[in-house]
Amino acid sequence: MKQISGIAASAGIAIAKAYILEEPDYSFEKKTVDNVESEKTRLETALEKAKADLTLIKEKAEVDLGEEEAAIFAAHLLVLSDPEFVGGMQSHIDNEKVNAESAVQDVSQTFITMFESMDNEYMKERAADIRDVSKRVLGHLLGLQMKSLAAIDEATIIIAKDLTPSDTAQLNPKFVKGFAADIGGRTSHSAIMARSMEIPAVVGTKEATASINNGDTIIIDGLEGVVIVQPDEEAIRAFEQKKDQYEQQKLEWAKLVNEATTTTDGHHVELAANIGTPEDLAGVINNGAEGIGLYRTEFLYMGRDQLPTEEEQFKAYKTVLEKMEHKPVVIRTLDIGGDKELPYLELPKELNPFLGFRAIRLCLEHQDIFRTQLRALLRASTFGNLKIMFPMIATVEELRQAKAILAEEKEKLQNEGQQVSDSIEVGMMVEIPSTAVAADIFAKEVDFFSVGTNDLIQYTMAADRMNEQVSYLYQPYHPAILRLVNMVIEAAHKEGKWAGMCGEMAGDEIAIPILLGLGLDEFSMSATSVLPARSQVAKLSKQELKTFSKEMLMKSTAEEVEEAVKNRFTLLTSQ
Ligand code: PEP
Ligand code: MG
Repeated sequence: MKQISGIAASAGIAIAKAYILEEPDYSFEKKTVDNVESEKTRLETALEKAKADLTLIKEKAEVDLGEEEAAIFAAHLLVLSDPEFVGGMQSHIDNEKVNAESAVQDVSQTFITMFESMDNEYMKERAADIRDVSKRVLGHLLGLQMKSLAAIDEATIIIAKDLTPSDTAQLNPKFVKGFAADIGGRTSHSAIMARSMEIPAVVGTKEATASINNGDTIIIDGLEGVVIVQPDEEAIRAFEQKKDQYEQQKLEWAKLVNEATTTTDGHHVELAANIGTPEDLAGVINNGAEGIGLYRTEFLYMGRDQLPTEEEQFKAYKTVLEKMEHKPVVIRTLDIGGDKELPYLELPKELNPFLGFRAIRLCLEHQDIFRTQLRALLRASTFGNLKIMFPMIATVEELRQAKAILAEEKEKLQNEGQQVSDSIEVGMMVEIPSTAVAADIFAKEVDFFSVGTNDLIQYTMAADRMNEQVSYLYQPYHPAILRLVNMVIEAAHKEGKWAGMCGEMAGDEIAIPILLGLGLDEFSMSATSVLPARSQVAKLSKQELKTFSKEMLMKSTAEEVEEAVKNRFTLLTSQ
């Protein structure tokens, strides 16, 4: 029996035999050619075949998985029609006089390197899409028989180096009980799809393919991020029990979809979801989120070569507001810079981008970009319950200036005869320690706060959130972080305002009891965390947690806090 650790990508337990997904051999000889036209025709044929495959996969995914997941294949089809991508390959054949295989490999590698060099996790994962698409084209050029995962017809656990989105879409959840991949993170498409297909998965295992043989018995523990190879009888029994418990728990959670989130002593807290694009809405609705606590609008600006127009933005915001049917929707203005780059803005490279010209700083300087977004938001405001939030505020002057620009645009629109809602709340992210420490000052000038712990932790602990070497300092439960969060909540409440949290910490089962006791009003998290969080909150008494949470502020270390929570509550991850 061997245990391999990885990243818990999709919750649940699966026990079945391993099926090693082997990569076909994509190697080929790089050749120079005389007849460039015939190479371009070969390329064209392979592209058409790849498009035909993807159209079929997309149609199948629409039926089996739903529109949201199928959108990935629409994106892949777009890549195959992208003039820069396809044109790049054609000119590569023309200019370098090489065979079509070399052109596909060289040009896709340029794109892959570009995406991989971005610090942003989401954009990094897009490299996987290019890799997936180019392999398909290469496969057709080489005449390879590509194995169909759709043909699997017995209970199986897939073990792969990487599982591409098209591999994932072919999985039939009836037979594929789980998967483990050597690479990937929580935001890989395969992980996202596994979550929506509810297939337990562990990714980033590094060594799964090297340590597992076809037919080995495997346990996937997608709750803890662990893969067990050739378990003994006792382990199988223990995990079967854990699986039953988890299945039981899911049935219980499902009953909560239309419920309010209420503590045992009758307090309501709002459980909202974070989204990146309007496509994420299906998950929000299916998981019974009570609102959207963070719409990261920067994704509207990414993966393209120019700024989105006011009209494009208006449509996206309107869609989200309408689909949420008057539930609260917090839309954050552009938070670009730092780890999220927009190549077409051609901003100078900075030594410390996380401490640099980003988010609200950039918007206040490039007001044309900011005003376009604000106009789109204001116009969309009549279609639902919109709240506007400014990111990366450090000073009251920035907040005042952003609010003044918003007021100016509102007035202009009204003078143009446009309808704008009169009840838009305006709030700010608390992600820079200056704003948490001086939250009492800021609270007088906003309608709400939302604590962005992803950044607040990195700035408070001076530990880059992307740097593995200092990841041990990235401590959500550190008393310093808890004290800052407490200050923010107290300051908001003193002014009669509400305080939310939209960083990852809001959906963390260890943090939830503490945050509840400190009086956090809104928790915004990934959609799939909403039901487990609702079930957890329903078992907690806010009144009883007050003292406990204050005690946590007085602990000496993050570890002591974690221990105290684990000792007092039964948690999912410690069952
Ligand atoms: C945060 O910083 O906690 C946050 C929610 O924003 P982002 O992760 O987009 O920086
Ligand atoms: Mg942030």
